Amino acid sequence: MTLNSDVRPDHPSAQPTAAAPRSAEHAGTVLRHAVERGLIGAARPVAGFLDTDGIRASVAALHSAFDTVPEVLHTFAAKASSLVPVLRLLADQGMGCEVASPGELRLARDAGFAPDRIVLDSPAKTREEIAEALCLGVSLNADNLDELDRIEALRPAGCASVIGLRVNPQVGGGAIGAMSTATATSKFGVALRDAGGRDGVVRAFARHPWLTRLHAHVGSQGCPLELIAEGIGETYRLAEEINATLGRQQITSLDIGGGLPVNFADDEVRPTFDDYTRALRSAVPGLFGGRYALVTEFGRSLLAKNGFIAARVEYTKQSGGRRIAVTHAGAQTATRTVLMPGSWPLRVGAFDAQGRPKTGESVAQDVAGPCCFAGDVVAESRELPALDEDDLVVLYDTGAYYFSTPWAYNSLPRPAVHGYIVDGADVRFAPVRDAQTLDEIAAESGARHAERLLALAPRATSR
Ligand SMILES: *Cc1c(COP(=O)(O)O)cnc(C)c1O
Repeated sequence: MTLNSDVRPDHPSAQPTAAAPRSAEHAGTVLRHAVERGLIGAARPVAGFLDTDGIRASVAALHSAFDTVPEVLHTFAAKASSLVPVLRLLADQGMGCEVASPGELRLARDAGFAPDRIVLDSPAKTREEIAEALCLGVSLNADNLDELDRIEALRPAGCASVIGLRVNPQVGGGAIGAMSTATATSKFGVALRDAGGRDGVVRAFARHPWLTRLHAHVGSQGCPLELIAEGIGETYRLAEEINATLGRQQITSLDIGGGLPVNFADDEVRPTFDDYTRALRSAVPGLFGGRYALVTEFGRSLLAKNGFIAARVEYTKQSGGRRIAVTHAGAQTATRTVLMPGSWPLRVGAFDAQGRPKTGESVAQDVAGPCCFAGDVVAESRELPALDEDDLVVLYDTGAYYFSTPWAYNSLPRPAVHGYIVDGADVRFAPVRDAQTLDEIAAESGARHAERLLALAPRATSR
């Protein structure tokens, strides 16, 4: 039944569904055209692909889910797809941009986001970064109370930046420890349930009349919606308490972060943005009433299902009785999956060299990558039609945090990324990022300093 799209064997809802072949059929169509154009094949053995129609549809679903809120700014978390053309497309679709480093701020500006549609988060902003953001008029969420003192000192007169404070409602973690932002000991935001935490926040708002926003980013992959909604509820009630205590509506907006989890087990978008706003409405009825403008910061849920990685099978072999396909997509582009296979399983599709779905009996095989460490395996003992040299594998749902965020291990090049649109019987492509060249790899590996260490030899001692 699962011709070429398999599922996590250990996942309870991982039974093949009627929807399962849709992504396979879609990827096959794109692959066949990509092979014809030479975008994937022997000379270019791995690439990322992004569905621009799908991205537009995801953005539209987000806007529609919040369409009753009088004032809302949906920002895209740049780290989920730090590619300028993608950010440009999102800007064109009416989104703002959430950034967390000078590099991401630069990408957002290059993509054409107006400063007042950019939100700067980061737990480690330097004074210089803060000063630049304030000077540009970029919104900024302080991570802690000390950062507020820096902002106070650096704020120019007439500063246009909206300034918020990130809080950690400490409602608990999700299924993936490393991804959980609202645990008791999370490094993010002011811990509300710690002794004096809440009071400290109230006092900070009293002291700084320019502080007008509360920020919480509670969710992430592995977090149930109810937990995210509870965290946002805590934040909303804190805003109400602060405004009541101060006797004025100083807090005018709430930044509720992103963190909607993504279903990696099959084609269904689950949960949807509508599911999320339903959960929010029931947990925090006042949230959509218009008393506060809202900001969101979704990343994974907008892009994950709108992209895939395609990679060539270079060799197949047997080892310890197990069949292994050695492909060109490993830890350099599927880093999380390789390093934390239990938390980040991916569906894998099997196609022939022309991009036609492979048929034939499924056999358990490992899908390995090109990196020189034993654990560079994307899928272990996966039931797939037997893969052969020159075949193509597809790693589904990798539109966020995968090929856009490569790892430089083994000096493997950053793979090329192509946008596409399926247009009747045709598929049109547009370049998003070129594959890294050997010259670029050498340059970023210090080639111009090649001789410098030799000069650190001990000086000749003169007596
Ligand atoms: C990563 C991050 C996001 C986006 O998270 P997703 O899980 O990709 O939606 C939003 N806000 C902040 C502060 C983040 O660190």
